[in-house]
Amino acid sequence: MYYPSLNFLKDYRIDPIIIDKIDRWLSIQLRSTYHFINPQQFAIDMKVDIELSVDTFALCCHNPISLMNVKYRVICPNCGQTDRHITEFDFESEYYVECSNCTYSYDVSENQEFIELFFVLLFEPEIKPTSQILLPEEVKKILGKSESLRFTDVKKGSTRRLLLNSYKNFASD
Ligand SMILES: [Zn+2]
Repeated sequence: MYYPSLNFLKDYRIDPIIIDKIDRWLSIQLRSTYHFINPQQFAIDMKVDIELSVDTFALCCHNPISLMNVKYRVICPNCGQTDRHITEFDFESEYYVECSNCTYSYDVSENQEFIELFFVLLFEPEIKPTSQILLPEEVKKILGKSESLRFTDVKKGSTRRLLLNSYKNFASD
């Protein structure tokens, strides 16, 4: 597994298939997106129910998994711009802020429809997915041929043709 601590999700009766999907999906996220991990995107990419996705991600923020944190993006109800990001937030009590863009004063708790929720992925995978791919020498030669990958290059190599066919099968199921 890329994130072995996800195994603890089994204690919460999360299906092993979902655990495998979240493990693989997290492992291929770009480092630059770690601060804006969106369970909705996971749900779309991996064909998982959205509510189950959010619940599973929430479990990942707690002990003993502790793989992610929650982050809230607060949109100003007056100017519609991103005002600030907060990591801890009590929805029950007043929380007045002044917009950093338009100086409008508002209560964040009263404007919950303007709050977007993200997850912050705290760790890189224990193994890099790319380090597991072993390309044969003849495939490396094909990749080194041109500056950009062209379809004609793909068609030339028999190994690549195999990849294309298996991808087609994958995409149709
Ligand atoms: Zn504003």
